[in-house]
Amino acid sequence: MPTKAFAAQSATTPVAPFTINRRAPLPTDVEINILFCGVCHSDLHFARNEWGMTVFPVVPGHEILGRVTRIGSAVTKFKVGDLGAVGCLVDSCRTCSSCKSGLEQFCMGGAAFSYGSPDKHSGGVTYGGYSENIVCDEQYTLKVPANLDPARAAPLLCAGITTYSPLRKWGAGKGKKVGIVGLGGLGHMGVKFAHAMGAHTVLFTTSPSKGDDAKRMGADEVVISKDPAAMAKHASSFDLIIDTVSADHDLNTYLTLLKLDATMVLVGVPPNPQPVHAFSLIMPRRNLAGSLIGGIAETQEMLDFCGKHNLTCDIEIIRMQQIEEAYERMLKSDVKYRFVIDMASLKG
Ligand code: NAP
Ligand code: ZN
Ligand code: ZN
Repeated sequence: MPTKAFAAQSATTPVAPFTINRRAPLPTDVEINILFCGVCHSDLHFARNEWGMTVFPVVPGHEILGRVTRIGSAVTKFKVGDLGAVGCLVDSCRTCSSCKSGLEQFCMGGAAFSYGSPDKHSGGVTYGGYSENIVCDEQYTLKVPANLDPARAAPLLCAGITTYSPLRKWGAGKGKKVGIVGLGGLGHMGVKFAHAMGAHTVLFTTSPSKGDDAKRMGADEVVISKDPAAMAKHASSFDLIIDTVSADHDLNTYLTLLKLDATMVLVGVPPNPQPVHAFSLIMPRRNLAGSLIGGIAETQEMLDFCGKHNLTCDIEIIRMQQIEEAYERMLKSDVKYRFVIDMASLKG
């Protein structure tokens, strides 16, 4: 089925109209008419080939939410008219130890991500959510709680799960001091989740103007990371720090804020390697870790947690045609706090 989309044809050309083909739903597939798609910084990294792994043309977008329009004959989880959502994962082998333990993102056969992955159906690559519709196996399609505003819920599919998962794994909760580095798409959800989980939540930001918003979202304290005296006050005091920064920055200044045996988790992916001084980890014994989105069951758990706590993202709605402008603002850390594309704009 020919489908309207927006794609980047090369690292140096803007994301622009493009037609892709979607398969007709197979027995276990769900077809979703996309209402909203969030704009993740990874979309920008990919469109501009900043990680050197993009297959062009690329149709970005992995914060996909819409209405089910058709279902395959064997689908049981969805009916036509339901809300459905697709995040970063659209398929995996389902049999390896990672898949069996709900960690499909680490599938040993290679998970299929929403865009730029080999597509076993078309023989080409997968195309993401900057498009009219998507067809996805029901096992990789998520349910959206009815009380959540659909536009504000869309970014939960990546920004939400990517911060929820490490906060859960490393035990954010009552009695814990948790730092979130960067108040962008991921960071603002990190602040909301850490607060909702009961942790003492501290935001590190390079943008003093974001302080009031961070407090409204649940930060107990806001630290301007460019102020060495303000940073020094928190030396060796954190149980957990989640670093969401997309650009080159000094990891050591945050590592030294961890207590004994505490962990800093990288979720942001700066384009270049970031040097770590051994002493930042040695004294006192500290951990540096990384985390990638979350598995399908945990993504559903996160959405249900958001339904229960009435948590959604702070967004600015844009038209598909404004995508390059949105990318430029993202590069200037000027996002309040996630751009979401109203996909109706694709039609006219
Ligand atoms: P974003 O909305 O652009 O937010 C990034 C934030 O980082 C900015 O708002 C800014 O916050 C801070 N920042 C930017 N430049 C900085 C600098 N030079 N020094 C210190 N702080 C800086 O991006 P996002 O969509 O949240 O994504 C963040 C990163 O996570 C990206 O690299 C993305 O590819 C990656 N990501 C990873 C996963 C995963 O599974 N691991 C999933 C999704 C995204 P302040 O203004 O508050 O300083
Ligand atoms: Zn993302
Ligand atoms: Zn697998």
